[in-house]
Amino acid sequence: MDRTDKRIVRFGEIMDMVKSYYPDADLDLIRAAYVYSARVHQGQTRMSGEPYLTHPVAVAAILAQMKLDEASVVTGLLHDTVEDTLTTFEDIERYFGTEIATLVDGVTKISKIAFQSKEERQAENFRKMILAMSRDIRVLLVKLADRLHNMRTLSHMPREAQIRISRETMEIYSPLAARLGIFWLRTTLEDLAFEYLEPDRYEFIQKRLEESVEEREEYVNKVLNIIGEKLEKENIKAITKGRNKDICSIHRKMLSQKLEFDQLHDLTAFRIILDSVSECYTVLGLIHALWRPVPGRFKDYLAMPKSNGYQSLHTTVIGPEGHRIEIQIRTHEMDLIAEEGIAAHWSYKEGRSVTPEDTRVVNWLRQMMEWQQDLEDPREFLENVRVDLYPDEVYVFTPRGDVKEFPRGSSPLDFAYSVHTEVGNSCIGARVNGKMVSLKYELVTGDTIEIITSAHQKPGKDWLKHVKTGRARTKIRHYLMSQEREKTIEIGRDSVERELRRWKIDLNRVEKDGGILKIAQEFNFKTELELYVAIGHGRQSAKAIVTKLVPQSEREQQKIIALEEKLKTPKRPTGKSGVKVQGLSDMLVHFAKCCNPLPGDPIQGFITRGRGVTIHKIDCVNLPDADPKRIVEASWDDDQSLVRTVKIGLISENKPGMLAAISGVFTSNDSNIIQANVVSFDETNARGTFLVGVRNVEHLTRIINALKKVKGVREVERRGTV
Ligand code: MN
Repeated sequence: MDRTDKRIVRFGEIMDMVKSYYPDADLDLIRAAYVYSARVHQGQTRMSGEPYLTHPVAVAAILAQMKLDEASVVTGLLHDTVEDTLTTFEDIERYFGTEIATLVDGVTKISKIAFQSKEERQAENFRKMILAMSRDIRVLLVKLADRLHNMRTLSHMPREAQIRISRETMEIYSPLAARLGIFWLRTTLEDLAFEYLEPDRYEFIQKRLEESVEEREEYVNKVLNIIGEKLEKENIKAITKGRNKDICSIHRKMLSQKLEFDQLHDLTAFRIILDSVSECYTVLGLIHALWRPVPGRFKDYLAMPKSNGYQSLHTTVIGPEGHRIEIQIRTHEMDLIAEEGIAAHWSYKEGRSVTPEDTRVVNWLRQMMEWQQDLEDPREFLENVRVDLYPDEVYVFTPRGDVKEFPRGSSPLDFAYSVHTEVGNSCIGARVNGKMVSLKYELVTGDTIEIITSAHQKPGKDWLKHVKTGRARTKIRHYLMSQEREKTIEIGRDSVERELRRWKIDLNRVEKDGGILKIAQEFNFKTELELYVAIGHGRQSAKAIVTKLVPQSEREQQKIIALEEKLKTPKRPTGKSGVKVQGLSDMLVHFAKCCNPLPGDPIQGFITRGRGVTIHKIDCVNLPDADPKRIVEASWDDDQSLVRTVKIGLISENKPGMLAAISGVFTSNDSNIIQANVVSFDETNARGTFLVGVRNVEHLTRIINALKKVKGVREVERRGTV
């Protein structure tokens, strides 16, 4: 193929080409597409003054030269109809079917992406975005053919457009061609773009190449002859060739090695292609015997293929006339893979590392190549390549035109948190492609996202359901935790304040004096806030603060004694059990944890092995399973005054002062709190469990009724177990 072909192609040539490599192709479909394209583009002209139709025809011809299926060729003919004429997706679907319509739609979508970002690092994201949008690889092939023809006819465009389009080609499309393994397309696009981007350099190198063409040819032939003779003598069959490097890569080499043109002697890469791997090593030995190898330049990609599968031996030697020459030695099979561009030639030369995505694409392309060899029908071949190249990611635009990558399923919140924590925390929604969407919206590749914020917004727990990125999740959790902590601090401080008020002590003053901090440290907390958190959670009692503060006051001495007495009240009752088993009051008994009977509850005993009698409520769910012979009659001993521990669970409003109000009920009902635990389980509700001492069921009922009357308490219940 003439790579800079600017000739206008006749439609008949396309038909001939398709027929030659694919005799069974649906030529009528291709003809119909040509007629349709001619009709809708009628009257349109290109910048060159030629009829617009010449462009889709040329694109179709490039696709036919690449021996693609008829759907690709048809898409080439139709690729600009939806974008540049009144034709709709539905029209194409009606006349040419869904497959072609989807392909045309894919090309149209890529064409609409505006590469407005100036940042170099964005180029990779643009490339990924295009790959992700080209679910069907034919979309990308048509797009690349379109770009190739546009580059070939770029001279008719204004200078500004030439530079913009060439930069896009250099940064986006030629690397994509390389990634797809189409080496010739990559170098052609690159050289065309280079010619516009740096016309002086291009002309300089081109001129020097032309000047030295005879001299170089002579030298190349000399080298090839020496190699040929040597191999013949050893009876080794080989194909040898010298390939001229393209202008852009010569330029890069001059830049990277800081060389003048005259100092470049390896403008030709020599290649020796052999039948077997063992021959490759034999020939390497012969070459190194012929010419002295340059130290450090030998690479064995045979034994250690590159991560993308590229295999070859590379060496640089001091050839005839003392010039350095590069020689690659490989088998036919390896050469096919490398030539067809499957190997990441580009990543090697440009010093880029190969990412897992690249490897995935390369592997998939290699598989594609293998299929191609097995299949007679190119249509079958391309039908197998509809794969999602980036199944786990989406690529979206910022309002400035940068591309950002997100996991699939991400929402505007993920986007907002990727901008800034504050943007995330105050995000109320987004405009996607100009339309308002909710926080639940799932980002789609190609979307342009604009975040809407409000100063009144606050993150909620349900936000966690709508985010996919770790960053957003962490930031939301962090916010929620800090909110919860603030609430807990408030509850804790409130109950301390209430306790102190009973002793006419002003908490603010004690805080200012550093008194609270001192107490906090005595209890092994770093700050007073941590102390309040512990009190808010019920891990630390507020009354303990009073005992630390109040003894300093002479006037309150009496009350302190009373208080200390009260605090000394045993937490668990000791002594007699308060239960009669079969009329006897001095039996070894203990109370079952499963139902925790209280004086007043009807009870039964269960004879354990070695631990006396366990007292259960008569309706305890565990009793029916027990051996009936071991169940004994039991009753409460009314003569004994007994305090039993019971667990009370409650749900209340999540507001300051709640814990204090609840504690007050226990105190005023003469019930000791042994343990309290309060957790706020959402924004409005808190759950509390209290272990308290009660005398009997009647006492408990009185406490529960009093608790139910506390404003803000929603539910109170006795818990069966302790
Ligand atoms: Mn086009």
